[in-house]
Amino acid sequence: MPHGDGASSLQRGKLSRNDLIRDKAYIDGKWIEADGSASIDVDDPFTGEIIGKAPSVSEDQTKAAISSAEKAFPGWAKELTRHRGAILRRWFDLVMDHQEDLARLITLENGKPLKEARAEVAYGAGFIEFYADEAGRMFGETIPSPVEGRRLLVEPEPIGVCAAITPWNFPLAMLTRKAAPALAAGCTMVAKPASQTPLSAYALAVLAEEAGLPAGVLNVITGKAGMIGGLLTSSPVVRKISFTGSTEIGAKLMEASAPSIKRLSLELGGNAPLLIFDDADLETAVETALVAKFRNSGQSCIAANRIYAQKGIYEAFLKAFAKRVSALALGDGFNEATDIGPLIDKAGVAKVEEHLDDAVAGGATILSGGKSSGGQLMPPTLLRDVAPDALLTREETFGPLAGVIPFAAEEEGVRFANDTPFGLAAYLCSENPATIARVGRTIESGMVGINTGLISTAVVPFGGVKMSGLGREGSSHGLMEYLNLKYLCHAGL
Ligand code: NAP
Repeated sequence: MPHGDGASSLQRGKLSRNDLIRDKAYIDGKWIEADGSASIDVDDPFTGEIIGKAPSVSEDQTKAAISSAEKAFPGWAKELTRHRGAILRRWFDLVMDHQEDLARLITLENGKPLKEARAEVAYGAGFIEFYADEAGRMFGETIPSPVEGRRLLVEPEPIGVCAAITPWNFPLAMLTRKAAPALAAGCTMVAKPASQTPLSAYALAVLAEEAGLPAGVLNVITGKAGMIGGLLTSSPVVRKISFTGSTEIGAKLMEASAPSIKRLSLELGGNAPLLIFDDADLETAVETALVAKFRNSGQSCIAANRIYAQKGIYEAFLKAFAKRVSALALGDGFNEATDIGPLIDKAGVAKVEEHLDDAVAGGATILSGGKSSGGQLMPPTLLRDVAPDALLTREETFGPLAGVIPFAAEEEGVRFANDTPFGLAAYLCSENPATIARVGRTIESGMVGINTGLISTAVVPFGGVKMSGLGREGSSHGLMEYLNLKYLCHAGL
């Protein structure tokens, strides 16, 4: 595979603080080698070089992580909210102080362009900052009693020990989006990051420890997903599972959590439509499509997987979009000019190529890009006249392949958009307020981007409907996912 300037992965990804890279698990405030020194190789998707090792913990070590979170819970739950907030604030400061190192680590293990990795660190840190403040805003209620002599109170209380299981596509932000509200609420956590990108999660734990987080409040372990997931879901100590990943694994975790009636937050797969109406501003539509489709090389759960353009704007949109897509630079994420980095693995490339072949066999024409030339670099590719039932409209492509489909009237566009069991994000471009209001409400998704492809921030509720999941992350609603409401009925007053 090409190597940019020929430097090795570790030279390219050199950090100013090497101790952010750990090869041990973080359990009960200690860095612990996996039993038998079992480990998982972590590679650089650009060069294929092994850049580090993550521990592969044993069953006993997984149980020890759960016990450590259980032991830490009463003290952390009782801690003054302003003290919990202050620790989170220090963690936020440390993450931002190390933004460049953390971004390099993300690029090293995930492959995404460095500029996007820096943005991920800032986005991920935003959750810590937001929930540092939110810790002091967990208000209760007093409800007027319908009978005399009673005081009816509602108090939020932390759920208890929570587990977080996170994916590889946003290895830092997907963890802070769970850990920050959990810790602010007074819960303790066992986190299991994806095997392909564990280093960012361990680096976050290094900084959380430096911020003064007490031992056991946040534990990070890696290893065999089935074993760890099985112990987390079957443990009566774990009261909540927060999972981000595929719908298939989410459904398995839900089933396995049923016997112990756990709370669940499931941020699952998406299949986002982008509807471009005749009255859209062309430049805005192109910018929206570019960001919504190609951010993180298309490996985003809210990526615009299906682009529908109305017939009146179809040709003009394709012409302008093709110009921008063909100008995207493919290559090493460490090159500041790179827009599209390597995909996470060869299976990812094979899936995109399968969608490309299927669309072309169904009558689509390639306007830009094409197949990979080997390795994990997949060129940004644009297709026109994709059939409405092509594979890329039914499954998440998770790569830099944009297929454009024409539609006639609004009713047809909305029907295409809603013709999916998923409902995470959707996008629409129009300058007509009535179209925006009507379509924005009719579209079946948890989130709608209107004339923008960039919708995610810590202050809004992120999440899906239908098979895209349960619950919301971010905003005050995200805090409620880690709280139970206790009702106290005080009689005899
Ligand atoms: P995945 O295969 O479901 O893996 C996600 C996590 O689950 C990883 O940590 C993985 O561990 C773990 N896992 C796998 N099998 C497990 C099991 N049997 N029990 C417990 N944990 C298990 O998903 P992915 O391929 O990493 O991520 C891509 C998917 O995530 C896409 O569908 C994407 O849309 C979705 N996603 C959704 C959101 C959202 O907010 N809705 C955000 C980002 C991504 P290992 O790595 O060790 O296998």
